[in-house]
Parts: sequence; C-alpha cells; structure tokens
Amino acid sequence: SADPRDLLLRRVAADNVAFVHLQFTDVLGIGKTVTIPVEELPDALDHGVWFDGSSIEGFARMVESDMYLVPDLTTYAVVPWDRHEGMVTARLICSVYTPDGKPFAGDPRNVLIRILDQAAASGYRFMVAPELEFFLFKVDGNGRIHEPHDKAGYFDVSTDLATHIRRQMARTLQAMGITVEAVHHEVAPGQHEIDLRYADALRSADHLVTARVALKAVAQINGLHATFMPKPMAGVNGSGMHVHQSLLDLESGKNLFADPNDPYGLSALARHFIAGLLTHARGMCVLLAPLVNSYKRLVPGFEAPVHISWGRTNRSALVRVPRITAGRLQSTRIELRCPDPACNPYLAYAAMLAAGLDGIRRKLPLRDAAEEDLFHVDPRARGLAMLPTSLGAALDALREDEVILEAIGPSVAERFLDAKQQEWESYRAHVSQWEIDRYLAIF
Ligand code: GLN
Ligand code: MG
Ligand code: MG
Ligand code: MG
Repeated sequence: SADPRDLLLRRVAADNVAFVHLQFTDVLGIGKTVTIPVEELPDALDHGVWFDGSSIEGFARMVESDMYLVPDLTTYAVVPWDRHEGMVTARLICSVYTPDGKPFAGDPRNVLIRILDQAAASGYRFMVAPELEFFLFKVDGNGRIHEPHDKAGYFDVSTDLATHIRRQMARTLQAMGITVEAVHHEVAPGQHEIDLRYADALRSADHLVTARVALKAVAQINGLHATFMPKPMAGVNGSGMHVHQSLLDLESGKNLFADPNDPYGLSALARHFIAGLLTHARGMCVLLAPLVNSYKRLVPGFEAPVHISWGRTNRSALVRVPRITAGRLQSTRIELRCPDPACNPYLAYAAMLAAGLDGIRRKLPLRDAAEEDLFHVDPRARGLAMLPTSLGAALDALREDEVILEAIGPSVAERFLDAKQQEWESYRAHVSQWEIDRYLAIF
C-alpha cells in the first residue's frame, strides 16, 4: 500500500536499521535525541514517544513536563557516520506534543510550522537557501582545540588542506537527502562554506540542524573540530549564515518576488518584504545572531553587516539583492546577511518570515538602496539605523518588538529571553584578558 507509515517501515527494514534517533531541538537550537531500538518504531509512529521535558533548556515548567515526540515521517534518513559495529542507525525529526495531543508551543519547530501555516493561509510558500560558514580547528590527543587547520584564504587552491574533507562533508549531507550546491574555502584561515540548495523553510531548518551535527562528525573523523561559533578569532572574518529568501505562490509555484520591469528585478511584494526585514532587523537580531560572541562578528570591516540597509552590490548591506541570470526570474531572491550559524534555524526562519509578512501586511515603503560601501561612509549622515551592538542591546530590542514576540509566542519568548539574559549577565560580570592587558598597569 502507499500508506506512509508502511512505506517507512519497509524502508527501515530494507536499510537494515537497528536503532532510530528521535530528534528535536531545545529553544536554543541545540539538537536533542532519544534513541529507540527499531522494534519500538511501529509503536512510536502510532503513539509517539513520551519523555520528560523538564530538563530541556527552555522547555516545560514542572507541571507540564510530560511531553511526547511525534516523528515527521518525511525526515527519515540513515545516519552515515554512525555505524558502530555494523549497526545501522537512522533518524527521524520530531515535533513535540503535549499530553492532550496539541503541538507544544515551546517547541521551536512548532513555532516555525505555525508561522508557515499563516503564510500559507495568505497563499505564500517561504523558500530559503542558507550559506553555512564554519571553521576547522586542529585538536590534540587530549581533545584540546588549537590553531586553525590551514592558512588558506578565499577560494585558494594550493594552501587549502581541506578539499577532501569538504567533499566528504558534501557527500555526507547528500546521503542524508540534503542538496549541496557548492563548497569552498572562505576568507579566514581554516574557514569554509557549504551552500545548501533552496528548500521550504521547515525542510531547510531540519537540514541545518542535521548539517551542524554532520559537519562536526566528519571533522572529528578527520581529527579536527568544526565550529559554528560566529567569531572564533579576532581580526579576521567571522562565520555568517546568509539566508536567501523568496515567496512562491502556493498554487502556481510562481516566484512572487520577481518583476523583470523593475530596476532591481523586484516586485512590490518583495519590496514590502524587505521593508519588513529592515523594520524588524533590530527586534529579530537576537534570534538570528544569538550569542555574546555574535556581536563581535557584526562589526565594520569583516564583510558582516552593521547598518540597517539594502542594496545590490554592497557586501556591507544587511539585505542584498543578488543579480540573477537573464530570464531566470524564478531564482529572484533577497539575501539577509546578519544571521550566523549559531542561531536556532527554526526561530530564525520564523522571525524573518514574520518580519517580511508584516511588511507586506502593512505595505511598508522601502527606502532607497544604499549602493556605496557603508564601511567607508558615515551611515548616520545617511540616516541609517544600526543593528544592536551587543547581546544585551539585542535582547532589549526583542522585548520591544511585538511582531517578533508574537511570532515566537509567549512560551518561547519567555524562556529564550530568560536563558539569554542570564548569558548576558554572566558575560557582563566577567573581566577579560583584554581589560587586564589594557588597564591593570596604567590605572
Ligand atoms: N564571513 C562573512 C560574514 O561574516 C561573509 C563573507 C562572505 O560570504 N562574503 O558574514
Ligand atoms: Mg557564499
Ligand atoms: Mg561566505
Ligand atoms: Mg552570501
């Protein structure tokens, strides 16, 4: 029969699967998993799998700690690096449900599903393509992390020590159903990028959670450490996660951002969407760039955005409009450049979409493009606002943005803000080596 449950069970048998990881993420986007022997899978598919959510970051209060996982059958994949003693392990990504059978509002995946449903009700399908940047570092026998793996730079060939590792990474992702468009060395020593093919936002967020684990696993097999920390080294580029975005017509699949008669190739809808992104850039920033360290990437001079602007050619712009190949209207898209790879992709995508939809709903006007290099003009003279410059400022901006708060819902908002405020307070109370070096002797 074509029953999805039976099809899945047959595939599991054909793949000789012994164990299944049931995967979800906490509010910070950290992957969590419960592993079941394959004999338990039919029951898991029929009734879900119970777990105690009270110990998961940002999940339940004690009273609502009983929750269960409902696997999304379309996310089935064999885990290529996890073949201990020949045993095959597969994974299924799950949504979290409450005991009374409702999607748990504190589950980031459910947050994204809810906003995608709102978009669908307006006839929109949200497509995204992330560019995932990361560093490879050397590790010694004691697991200590040392210097970057190589000294190569952007697209370098001769000094690049990781070509085979990137190919292995691409192969691993492909084996898990993730389409890789390109891999290359990035600007900084030891820095790399993997570009994923555009996909529905839910699928793409699932892919990102998988990719972060997969790339770490491949790095480890090669005796290296892969990190998605946004700015692991001062003085060189950090790691971003640019997100290319478009809205398709739900019925026809037509790209609603394209207008060949516009100088930027953008429809009025796309312009409202961008205006929404700019309007909510400060409010959503902490969901896209969530660490203390994220704000050390968002500084002038390292190809990361600082000001709230848009343009075509400008690498300092927050939103860039890539030039498309003549006639390929379907690939019209806009690129948001502030996200970094430490974000929770479900919440990040939910926030971007909510921001764009708000721009459409309110028909927000789009200011003129800024085409000069903003690292070298005074943006204040241009009347350009700035992204938050610290985690603390970004948290305050989120607290003031009703649209983004409403998109992630009160349950996630409360827990996210709590966890991140603690992180910020802890950082604030820390005295760094920079301060000692700079002040101790002089003052
Ligand atoms: N690494 C840069 C960033 O932080 C981006 C560099 C690039 O892809 N051109 O966003
Ligand atoms: Mg790129
Ligand atoms: Mg890049
Ligand atoms: Mg880019």
